[in-house]
Amino acid sequence: MNVKFGDLSIQYRAHQAEFDAAVHRVLESGQFIFGPELDAFEKEFAAYCGTRHAVGVASGTEAIYLALAALGIGPGDEVITVPNTAVPTISAISMANAKPVLVDVRPDDFNMDPQALKRRFTAKTKAILPVHLYGQTADMAPILEIAEKKGVPVIEDACQAHGARYGSKKAGSLGKMGCFSFYPSKNLGAFGDAGAITTDDDALYERLQMLRNYGQKIRYYHEIKGINSRLDAMQAALLRAKLKHLDAWNARRTRIAEYYEKHLADAIRTPREMAGRTHARHLYAILVQERDRLKKRLADKGIQTEIHYPVPVHLQKAYADLGQGPGSHPVAEQCALTELSLPMYPELTQEQVEAVVSAANESI
Ligand SMILES: *Cc1c(COP(=O)(O)O)cnc(C)c1O
Repeated sequence: MNVKFGDLSIQYRAHQAEFDAAVHRVLESGQFIFGPELDAFEKEFAAYCGTRHAVGVASGTEAIYLALAALGIGPGDEVITVPNTAVPTISAISMANAKPVLVDVRPDDFNMDPQALKRRFTAKTKAILPVHLYGQTADMAPILEIAEKKGVPVIEDACQAHGARYGSKKAGSLGKMGCFSFYPSKNLGAFGDAGAITTDDDALYERLQMLRNYGQKIRYYHEIKGINSRLDAMQAALLRAKLKHLDAWNARRTRIAEYYEKHLADAIRTPREMAGRTHARHLYAILVQERDRLKKRLADKGIQTEIHYPVPVHLQKAYADLGQGPGSHPVAEQCALTELSLPMYPELTQEQVEAVVSAANESI
């Protein structure tokens, strides 16, 4: 049986009438930038995350960039984040002309190690940017406690964690701002590029609205220097239609994860849901010693897999200027060598999930 790593066309076909109606509503309205669809989506997404505000922007990368810009972070400032993330986390810090400072992750949740965070603080540290990798939040209590002590804001990279929880609170409501991507394959994905920033802070909300729209509040009166990073009405309307299904989709992801967890062989290290956290199961990241061999054997059986991510940030050519060679972040480096993502999306059938499990168990 063939199992693709992802197939967004299934979701479209399953809800075609709703998605087509959303598109036509926008086409007929004649309003493509700002307007009622964006306003409604921002309200609905903020309510979903449990924050006062959400600001729609053009991508997850720009969500992080704009969050940094809203805090006035720029040249000479340091932002602490992790090396095992999607590179856009770092791209956003570079866009702000700030310096990414990397701290290693914990081997149990693959996320920022609060102990390592403590050691990398300097007088130049202006923000902490934990990533909720694979859909599980970082251990936010100790991170927020350290941040509070140092008087530095926490910005969440929640681009993989729509609907994840830490205690009773949702990803995006834990730090000063939460940054989301609606890249098509994310748990909540647009039909193109899109992103959002969540916050409870009224002043930051106002600033973010200006920053994404050339720095203006009143048209043609530019109070600050901004850019164009808007979430257009078409994507907003489509995201509204999809948001209604997000919890059901995440619940299906959870059931698939439970099946994997229960049936995969012991030689496969399965991802743990940490106590007190609800994993949004964006990616199902297993760790295996002979990763490349398993990947090839699964491919031969028709099962597509991916590696998230093959090269940690500090070993990427583009970031050689960080001056951190092999051995700088051993846990992240070990993840890069042994991680394999199995198919994980709500539309997988039970037969496909079973096929993945038997193929993996036969191939390990
Ligand atoms: C997807 C992603 C981003 C970037 O989002 P884009 O919308 O592609 O710009 C940033 N950080 C993480 C962890 C991501 O997974």
